[in-house]
Amino acid sequence: MGANYSGLIKVIFLCVFAAQPSSILLAQMIDREDRVLFQNARIVIGDGGIIENGSLFIENGTITEVSSQTFAAQAGTIVVDASDKTIIPALIDGHSHLGYQGRSSWGSQNYGRENLIDNLEQYAYYGFSAVFSAGSDAPSIVNEVEVSRMNGEFVGAQLLFAAGMAPPGQGPNDLFLGHALVVEESSGEIILYGLENPDQAKEQVRIAAEKGIGFIKIWVDDRGGSQVKLAPDLYRAVIGEANKHGLKVFVHQQFASDMPDLIAAGAHGFLHGRIGEDLGADIAAQASVANSFIVPNWGLNELRGEAIGEDEFLSQIFSDSVMAQLTTGNGNRQTIVNQNPMAEMELRASLNGLLTAGVDIVLGTDAGAVPNHPFGYTGHREMEIYVRLGMSPMQALIASTSNAAKHLGMENRGSIKLGKSADLIVLSNNPLDDIRNTRNIERVILGGIEVDRDSLRAKWKP
Ligand SMILES: [Zn+2]
Repeated sequence: MGANYSGLIKVIFLCVFAAQPSSILLAQMIDREDRVLFQNARIVIGDGGIIENGSLFIENGTITEVSSQTFAAQAGTIVVDASDKTIIPALIDGHSHLGYQGRSSWGSQNYGRENLIDNLEQYAYYGFSAVFSAGSDAPSIVNEVEVSRMNGEFVGAQLLFAAGMAPPGQGPNDLFLGHALVVEESSGEIILYGLENPDQAKEQVRIAAEKGIGFIKIWVDDRGGSQVKLAPDLYRAVIGEANKHGLKVFVHQQFASDMPDLIAAGAHGFLHGRIGEDLGADIAAQASVANSFIVPNWGLNELRGEAIGEDEFLSQIFSDSVMAQLTTGNGNRQTIVNQNPMAEMELRASLNGLLTAGVDIVLGTDAGAVPNHPFGYTGHREMEIYVRLGMSPMQALIASTSNAAKHLGMENRGSIKLGKSADLIVLSNNPLDDIRNTRNIERVILGGIEVDRDSLRAKWKP
C-alpha cells in the first residue's frame, strides 16, 4: 500500500519535471524497484578505471549500464544529476569481528541477532556493502541474520563469516577468547574448532564444510607465550583439506617469518600485514606468485591511541557519553598521534615492495575484536593510513573494493560494472584528490536500495 502510494507520487513528480530531467534531484530514498539514471558523474570503477561525466543506470538492484555517453531520461526513470559528484563502489571490510561490540559496551553479552543487525547497519551507514567476520561467530545466528537481510527486513552490509581453528581452547586474543567461549556455550554451536592432530584437523575441516561454511580462519600465534602456537603439520593439514573442499583459509599470522611456509601450504591470505623490514622482496614475490592477499591492518594499533571521540565523522552516530570515552583524558588517547619517522620509512618501503611485486592489498580493520574500534569508521581511517604510507588514493580504493570482493569470492560486488550489484557511494567531493573525501557521503545504495542514513542517525543519536 505504502509502496504503491509513493510510486504514484513519483510518477506525478516525473511528469511535472519531465521537461528538464537533468535538473531533477530527488530528495526521496531510492528503492530496489526504481529504475535510476545517474548523469554527469565521475565514476570510479573500483578496478583502477575512471569515467568522467559518466552515466549509470540501475534497475532491480543491478547495474544495467555504465557509460561515458549521455542518455535522455525515459518515462519511469528517476534521474539524478550527479554533476561535481563522484560515485565509487561501496566498500568491503575484509577483516572484522561482528556481534561483540554494542553501542555502548563490548562483550559476549551483546552477541545476538539484534546487535549483529545494528553492526551491519553501521557498516551500511559508512558505505560498506559487505564485511568478513573472522572466526568468532555462531553460524546459525549469523545465517539467520543474513536471511533477514536478503528478505529486506533491514538494509545492511552482507555478512560473511569463518569457522575459527586453532589448538584446543586457543585462538583470539586472550580477552576475546573468553568472550567467544561464552557465546559458544550459550549458543550451543562450535565457534572455535580445536586442532589436535593432522587427521583430526582434516575432520574438523570436513565438519565445517558440511555446515556450508565457506571460510576458515586459523590463528598461528602464541600471543607472547600465553597461548599455544598452531604447529605447521596442523595448518598444512587444515589448508590441504580446505582446498579439497573449496574452502578458503585466511590466516592470523604472528610474524612475517611465518608466511613463507603458510603460502607454500596454500593459504589464501593474511589478515595481519606484519608489514615492515621482515616482510621483504622474497616474501612479496612468493605471495604475488601464489596470488595471496595481505590485509595491512594498521589502524588497529594506531587508532586506539587517537582521540577519535573528537572526530565529527564518528560523533555523528554515537552518544556524547560514548564519545567522551574516546577522547583525550580517557586512556592514552591523543589529539595528534606522532608517528615515528623511522618506523614510517620502514613501513613505506615494505608496502612499496608489496605493491611493486603485485601483491593484492585488501582493506581490513579488525573492528570489533577489541572494545572501541568502531565498524565502518575504521575502514575510512585505514584508507587514510594507506595513502600516508605511499599508496595512491586509487590504490587505496582498489584495496577496499575490487580486491576485497575478489578474495572474498563475491563476483557480484566491488566494482561499478554491467551486471554487478548496485552497491554505490555518492560522494560530494573527489576522493582521488584527497582520500578523506570518502567521508563526504551523500548517498549509500546497496543492492539498489538507498540506506536511510538520516533515520539511522536519528535512531542512534536521538
Ligand atoms: Zn581479527
